[in-house]
Amino acid sequence: MIVAMQENATEEQIDAVISVMVESGVEVHRTTGEVQTILAAVGATAGLDLAKFGSLPGVLNVHRISSPYKLAGRGFRPEGTVVEFRNGVKIGGKQIAVMAGPCSIESRDQIFETAKRVKAAGGSFLRGGAFKPRSSPYSFQGMGIPGLELMRAAADAYDLLVVSEVMEISQIEPMLPHVDCFQVGARNMQNFNLLRELGQTRKPVLLKRGMAATLEELLLSAEYILSGGNYNVILCERGIRTFETATRNTMDISAIPVTKKLTHLPMVADPSHGTGRRDMVAPLAKASVAAGADAILIEVHPNADKAASDAAQTLFLDQFEKLMGEMKAIATAVGRSL
Ligand code: PEP
Ligand code: MN
Repeated sequence: MIVAMQENATEEQIDAVISVMVESGVEVHRTTGEVQTILAAVGATAGLDLAKFGSLPGVLNVHRISSPYKLAGRGFRPEGTVVEFRNGVKIGGKQIAVMAGPCSIESRDQIFETAKRVKAAGGSFLRGGAFKPRSSPYSFQGMGIPGLELMRAAADAYDLLVVSEVMEISQIEPMLPHVDCFQVGARNMQNFNLLRELGQTRKPVLLKRGMAATLEELLLSAEYILSGGNYNVILCERGIRTFETATRNTMDISAIPVTKKLTHLPMVADPSHGTGRRDMVAPLAKASVAAGADAILIEVHPNADKAASDAAQTLFLDQFEKLMGEMKAIATAVGRSL
């Protein structure tokens, strides 16, 4: 159930409605938008008498939510969520953010050189994996916390934010001081215990779509984080597995406008994993900007051919700089900036 308050509802009226909702045995999630406050009831809502809430002072209207995701649904925040970071960086606003960096953090030189060039090109996040979910146990598994320390130092030196993947609950605590945003990888989209635990933090979470997950499943996974009270969730389309073999994955561009309808959460596009091919990253990055992505995530490396992971899809830094210019032009054409 969603209770939409009138624009001029007072705090006392809002508190009174929350009390009646809590007495009815539901958990209440509140969102205060620019125009109105919305109260979402989560839990045993099936037997609730909607009329009872509709007549309370300050209430505009009450409706049942038919979608299985109550807090991720657009109705909870009709105006859209903007996730705010330090330095005024936002994801979900008019400006499109760019996150770039290597698949894996490999060395001090590699990450500092990348940070310098990402910043110069106009990026706002440095990405890089320290804990890597590799298909083979014999492949490079990442540098772990020492790698994150290097990335934090590089990001601080160039005034960038840090996004990095968390693979399990035990990594949350040690990662907290080093990251501005946790990434949950495609392979962990349905690691529900990890999602619940991230819901207990207030650190933004970039939740990647599983390679065989529907958008409804993606939103239900987001709901695990939101229901813990962490509303700083950013979704990410990174390609899905289809019958097509010409590309590593099939970048589902339509997921971008579709999620805009279904949810208030911002959507990031990752054309690097979405295509798996260096020559396809730029066209799909540009298509993602045109389709309404709120941020673009791109794998870049000073020596892309020699990257320890995902070399085939990693851009050289000069290719990234050229792409930034092209994406800027497209952003302007669709009424946004980058
Ligand atoms: C990554 O970002 O390097 C990564 C492992 O992504 P995904 O989970 O989308 O495969
Ligand atoms: Mn990668």
